[in-house]
Amino acid sequence: MAAIDDVRARLGGWAGRLLASDCAGFEDVAPVVFAGDGAAPALVARPRDAGEVAAAVRAAAETGVPFAVRGGGHAYARYGTVAAGLVLDLRLLGGARIDPGRRVGVASAGTTAGDYTAAAAAHGLATGFGDTLSVGVPGLALGGGIGYLSRRDGLTLDNVLGAEVVLADGSIVRASDDENADLFWALRGGGGNFGVVTRLDLRLTPTTVVTGGLLAFAPDPTTVGALLAAAAAAPDELSLMVNVMKAPPAPFLPAERHGTPIVVALVCHSGSPDVAGAVLAPFRAAGTLLVDLVRPQPYPDLFGLAPNQVGTWPAQRTGFVETVAEDAAAAVIDAVRTAPTPVAVLNLRPMGGAIARVPRDGTSFAHRDRAVMATVGAVSPAGAGAADARAWVARAADGLSLGGAAYANFVAEPGAAAASDAYPSETLRRLQEVKRQVDPGNLFRSNLNVLPAEAPAAVRA
Ligand SMILES: Cc1cc2nc3c(=O)[nH]c(=O)nc-3n(C[C@H](O)[C@H](O)[C@H](O)COP(=O)(O)OP(=O)(O)OC[C@H]3O[C@@H](n4cnc5c(N)ncnc54)[C@H](O)[C@@H]3O)c2cc1C
Repeated sequence: MAAIDDVRARLGGWAGRLLASDCAGFEDVAPVVFAGDGAAPALVARPRDAGEVAAAVRAAAETGVPFAVRGGGHAYARYGTVAAGLVLDLRLLGGARIDPGRRVGVASAGTTAGDYTAAAAAHGLATGFGDTLSVGVPGLALGGGIGYLSRRDGLTLDNVLGAEVVLADGSIVRASDDENADLFWALRGGGGNFGVVTRLDLRLTPTTVVTGGLLAFAPDPTTVGALLAAAAAAPDELSLMVNVMKAPPAPFLPAERHGTPIVVALVCHSGSPDVAGAVLAPFRAAGTLLVDLVRPQPYPDLFGLAPNQVGTWPAQRTGFVETVAEDAAAAVIDAVRTAPTPVAVLNLRPMGGAIARVPRDGTSFAHRDRAVMATVGAVSPAGAGAADARAWVARAADGLSLGGAAYANFVAEPGAAAASDAYPSETLRRLQEVKRQVDPGNLFRSNLNVLPAEAPAAVRA
């Protein structure tokens, strides 16, 4: 029997939740967000609870089929699918539960940032995620999670209090500071390498009305540095992203700017509204302001400004910079002007604040002392212009000296050095040791893959 048929037989009781390419509804569950080469899986299995996750994990391990685990399906590198293999799609394990008394939120594996944010907002609480509500909570949290509350509360992974995990042998364990502490350390930065997280417990922080939104500036090279300098001097309640990008055809941007370079700051001040004006003044003064949409608003309303990239092909390079000097900013603005794709962007995320207060070895996200996370990206329609987009990204990233360190969640094309870019050598060594203990056969490899450390000689003998 072919291995995939063997999996199908083992999970035969999952009526309507085990979809092969000959099943009605397969086209709805097969794709992930990005199109890539379009290669489809052979089978998509949709468990309802941790016990069913364990059964599918055992089936994958024992048959040796190509295997991928999918949450929200947003990985730029399309980790949530695998050609001709088994996809474990966690979306039916959805749901967020909020305990306002303890200020703890529980995200099941299929929960999106949007589901959770809405549930928490009903209690005046939030856990910070990224800039997009459709992203899966565990997928984001296991790699990092940088967004509108990060300088106040840390990365999403800094707010993880505990996890339930199905390991490669099908066992179900808890990980926290008190239980399986090495696994808990590895999960917070090491992505999906160590098992299937079926539940995450997350710290909630009071968050109601924030002062935030979009500031759009004329493409003056000094504006980029001025925004980064303002961020470095701002209190922790201020988080922001800066984009040097081709202006999309959005109705709130002047029509004559559409398709030409602009500088955009997406800001969120989550402190007292009384001081927001003073905190935001240096940002508003960073250049020639074209559009100011910053206003007090309920925290969940901040979302929705990120573009929908479904079905496209992303080229992306990620790294860290200390700042962007005026000549480098001028070069990026020129590069954006002549980019071969409609979407071309340098995305800058100032770090610092609570992110920097976690010790470098406290979690497996170790880039704690870096000033700014930087990503150059171009998005092309599926099947068209991918090579040109990739070449453009490489040129623009080289101009900024991006390289040698990467943010795992933003890696789009993991090469042989991906793990050593994402993790400094001591972190990687520790991750490999945990991997050896919980997944020595590397079942969980459709991710930014950490290879298991070699077994010590005494164990090998
Ligand atoms: C439009 C867009 C905007 C984004 N914005 C931000 C942002 O602002 N900030 C930020 O930090 N990141 C951002 N990201 C990156 C995002 O955090 C990562 O792509 C993340 O890994 C997506 O998780 P997912 O579950 O949606 O994706 P998937 O592709 O389903 O999963 C991604 C990886 O996580 C693993 N995984 C998912 N769920 C589990 C689980 N329950 N247990 C074990 N492993 C699991 C998968 O196996 C896979 O390796 C963005 C991505 C997109 C496409």
